[in-house]
Amino acid sequence: MNERVAIIGAGVAGLSTAIRLSHAGYKVDVYEAASSEGGKMRELSINGYRWDMGPSLFTMPHYVEELLQLNADAIDLEFEYQKLESICHYFWNDDTRFIAYATQDAFEEEASVVFGVDQKVIKNYLENAAKKYQISGSLFLERSLHQIGTWISADALKAYFKLHKLDIFKTLHNLNHKALKHEKLVQLFDRYATYNGSDPYQCSGIMSMIPHFEQHFGAYFPRRGMRSIPDVLYQKAMHLGVDFYFDTPVKTINHQGRQVSGVSLQTGVSKSYDIVVSNADVLSTYKSLLDDDGKYRQHEQQERSTSGLIFYWGVESEFDQLDVHNIFFADNYRAEFQALTDGSIFEDPTIYVHISSKIKQDDAPVGCENWFVMINVPSKGYDQEEWVNRYRSIIINKLSRQLHVDLSSMIRAEHHIDPSEIATATQALDGALYGSSSNSRYAAFFRQSNKSKEYKNLYFCGGSAHPGGGIPLCLLSGKITSQLIDEYHN
Ligand SMILES: Cc1cc2nc3c(=O)[nH]c(=O)nc-3n(C[C@H](O)[C@H](O)[C@H](O)COP(=O)(O)OP(=O)(O)OC[C@H]3O[C@@H](n4cnc5c(N)ncnc54)[C@H](O)[C@@H]3O)c2cc1C
Repeated sequence: MNERVAIIGAGVAGLSTAIRLSHAGYKVDVYEAASSEGGKMRELSINGYRWDMGPSLFTMPHYVEELLQLNADAIDLEFEYQKLESICHYFWNDDTRFIAYATQDAFEEEASVVFGVDQKVIKNYLENAAKKYQISGSLFLERSLHQIGTWISADALKAYFKLHKLDIFKTLHNLNHKALKHEKLVQLFDRYATYNGSDPYQCSGIMSMIPHFEQHFGAYFPRRGMRSIPDVLYQKAMHLGVDFYFDTPVKTINHQGRQVSGVSLQTGVSKSYDIVVSNADVLSTYKSLLDDDGKYRQHEQQERSTSGLIFYWGVESEFDQLDVHNIFFADNYRAEFQALTDGSIFEDPTIYVHISSKIKQDDAPVGCENWFVMINVPSKGYDQEEWVNRYRSIIINKLSRQLHVDLSSMIRAEHHIDPSEIATATQALDGALYGSSSNSRYAAFFRQSNKSKEYKNLYFCGGSAHPGGGIPLCLLSGKITSQLIDEYHN
């Protein structure tokens, strides 16, 4: 097979697609606007501190392993990761503390001690989450939703009879409120909506399967940091013969009518390809690369996922009460999501603090910690500079209060990114972290299909295409896309 494929973008989904297609015998070239692979998985170093700038939570490592195992004898790639014993430490303003242990028994026990909730309540909830995954996981996450074959497959037929168990038409919050009884436990499980930038008061109850991924498959941290995920995938792709062109933005996807024929680079050079895969944000693809206003407007109607305001602080102290992942909850979670919708500043935001130096000690000088401090913010519609200043002091005050320290006096290194920086650096429109949100019950069906319906030989992979954002889904997106290409071109 000599078909030539151009992939636009070396995000995790682009890398996953490149590895699979190259392994299947295609000649693959990857064009990346940035100077290295990884897309949103960037890193930053200042004064002896190192931070992963994007994703911090690594779940379902078997999807990375699957890629490394392709033609595994040819190269020995080192990719080590460790399972976390506790997934997250939760903090509330009234001094309630909860440790989410990785094993289900310990989690249930802790929940019964801290919240007084019968262990059976959690057990039932997680069993239902597992069932949802068993019924719909392979259908919604591992196949194209836009191919007739999917809907007449054995998996689909099984799912039709069990649709009522998926809680599609309840909101995640209503489902949690009914199932979990205790207000703080409801809040804890509502937060899973934010794993793909959605709102628990709007998104479907089917999202209650997300905790199953963490509780069943576990949460991990790579020994060399999150950045080592795209790094090892890049090495794998190189060994399989993929050619990478960094600092090489694609200007247009060339097409005659609806037939895609290659790409033109910003440098003015045009290249012919049999197949083009866009790992760029779907909206950027339609707007800038295809100049297709109709498709752009169609996708623009879908609500964007939230973005983030992230502070990277080198902190000269160590905090025993903190773990690798920590959440400091808002008192009024509903009001916080309403503020995200309204685009107004919220005085008591939920704050996520990730400290990789708890595991990877060389990420901070001795006696210090590297804090990645993030709050959710809307992807557009406000003065970002004003928000950075206001939120910096709101966050420092809240964390200082909760940890009984003067945090501002401990910050030795500092950087921040906001939605406009994320948009510029990764070409994600409005800096949305996960493409379109899953707030609508039908979001999965409106998300960009992996094979274009309008353009022949054009495919999509990545967080803004099916099945959605987050590392595991992006890796699956590469899998679905390469399977479709193989189906249609082989
Ligand atoms: C702050 C933050 C925190 C996150 N936390 C988590 C987390 O804890 N766990 C998790 O699983 N996920 C998390 N995510 C989401 C996760 O990072 C993304 O879903 C995933 O990395 C997206 O991968 P992707 O393949 O879609 O490509 P992206 O990472 O979006 O990369 C796309 C690439 O395409 C390139 N590109 C775009 N246009 C062009 C062009 N015209 N020419 C050439 N190249 C182009 C871009 O430069 C970029 O490198 C987080 C994201 C952010 C930003």
